[in-house]
Amino acid sequence: MTTSASVPTEPEGAIAGDGTTVTDRLVGANQRYAAAFADPGMDARPVLHVAVVACMDARLDLHAALGLELGDCHTIRNAGGVVTDDVIRSLTISQRALGTRSVVLIHHTGCGLESLTEDFRHDLEMEVGQRPAWAVEAFRDVEQDVRQSMQRVRTSPFLLHTDDVRGFVFDVTTGLLREIDPG
Ligand code: ZN
Repeated sequence: MTTSASVPTEPEGAIAGDGTTVTDRLVGANQRYAAAFADPGMDARPVLHVAVVACMDARLDLHAALGLELGDCHTIRNAGGVVTDDVIRSLTISQRALGTRSVVLIHHTGCGLESLTEDFRHDLEMEVGQRPAWAVEAFRDVEQDVRQSMQRVRTSPFLLHTDDVRGFVFDVTTGLLREIDPG
């Protein structure tokens, strides 16, 4: 596979013929959001004392799918929802500085990481002349990857609370979560 980006035919990020970029659109939406915004007067500590680790997939609306409101939880997202060292860093801060106690892990059906392999790193190295320090964390079996992620959280020496760690697969076609037995 190639990791090369295709050559853009329009200015970087442009979505319309007038040169407006997607970021311009987001900034415009923010101005409307802020106009209707009232300071909720919230503390930074999540109300439900829970941290959710999930894939960055655009089809997964965590707040809607889990009935979450502003201020309820920490959301930690990356490609795959994989428990990397940086996720452990965030969870450690979440628990030790901001009072969360429960961890929910969410992978999903049709994840992009299922179609990648560690060859991705090799191809990157060939292209840019430098091997990335990080693992791709590609997987073939989503359930097994959820189990591995639960295990990484449960065995972390840095976390205060590892008794309430549950893992799920979100079905992007039905919107339903399926819990994975830690095994
Ligand atoms: Zn994914």
